[in-house]
Amino acid sequence: MTGLVDRFGRVATDLRVSLTDRCNLRCTYCMPAEGLAWLPREEQLTDDEVGRLIRIGVELLGIAEVRLTGGEPLLRRGLLEIVAAAARLEPRPRLMLTTNGIGLERVAAGLREAGLDRINVSLDTLDPERFNRLTRRDRLDDVLRGLEAAASAGLTPVKINTVLMRGINEDEAPQLLKFALTYGYQLRFIEQMPLDAQHQWDRHTMVTADEILAALVPFDLQPDPVSRGTSPAETWLVPGHVDAAGEPARVGVIASVTRPFCGDCDRTRLTADGQIRNCLFATDESDLRKLLRAGASDPEIAEAWRTAMRGKRAGHGIDDPSFLQPARPMSAIGG
Ligand code: SAM
Ligand code: SF4
Repeated sequence: MTGLVDRFGRVATDLRVSLTDRCNLRCTYCMPAEGLAWLPREEQLTDDEVGRLIRIGVELLGIAEVRLTGGEPLLRRGLLEIVAAAARLEPRPRLMLTTNGIGLERVAAGLREAGLDRINVSLDTLDPERFNRLTRRDRLDDVLRGLEAAASAGLTPVKINTVLMRGINEDEAPQLLKFALTYGYQLRFIEQMPLDAQHQWDRHTMVTADEILAALVPFDLQPDPVSRGTSPAETWLVPGHVDAAGEPARVGVIASVTRPFCGDCDRTRLTADGQIRNCLFATDESDLRKLLRAGASDPEIAEAWRTAMRGKRAGHGIDDPSFLQPARPMSAIGG
């Protein structure tokens, strides 16, 4: 089997699938208050089409890990069937999901039964008023209940994704870590990236990994002896704490902007309308939906996917003077 290898020798084995570009929150760093022009239904892949592309990825291209995301993936009607179909594949890929946690309380056990292995829940603040400001919705309690349900269902270790925003929640890193340690969740801070639909990201005001780590000095973080591998998160041990599985507690920072990890990237992305993107920051895409709907065979689709990945650039180039933010925002690419 020839996998997804690019010109720099990187091999993509981690597939991120966006199941929808729609969302029930409006995080300020992601989309405007009025939402976006959602994809028309006929442009969105059907459940069978998503399932077929995941199968081609796993059976013909060496995909070992599939992460379902969006938009908000829990809004996808066929979610449980998509998870179950992926869990039946051979070799069975590891199955993960990234969600804002709204409605997770209801579906966590079902997701686990369908075969989901792990979950990441996004949570930027523990303060209801700040949550409202950040997401433009009053839903903090739903997210907290979703987190508990995910842990009870065994979707562990439950990871929390946090974006810190200057002047809004930048001071909350220690409280969020204490909360995660108390409940056995694993917290990961993500540097804000230029992927907002409004194009308001500013390098000079984003909260950096160095600032986050400075705020966590009281926790006496220690270097993680476990190799980072291709993980985007740099992790540290938090002395004196264990997670829900009894493992040493960890905290992570995904410093895509100030400490880029493009050289180790193993990701390939499928959008909800069937486009392959070889990078979050790619400015072009390869249309697998057109091929699918024109009756292409599995090997033909696999070859188009390989071609799409060969053209991956060495890095995202955020710091290059010629950097151009991709036309699609994070919510439409799949974060
Ligand atoms: N709606 C789901 C959620 O919020 O978890 C899944 C999609 S969301 C785009 C995936 C992750 O991307 C979330 O953790 C979110 O905080 C993060 N994200 C969104 N916009 C971002 C940005 N501009 N910079 C960094 N992270 C961002
Ligand atoms: Fe929705 Fe996730 Fe974007 Fe927030 S970050 S608006 S939850 S897609």
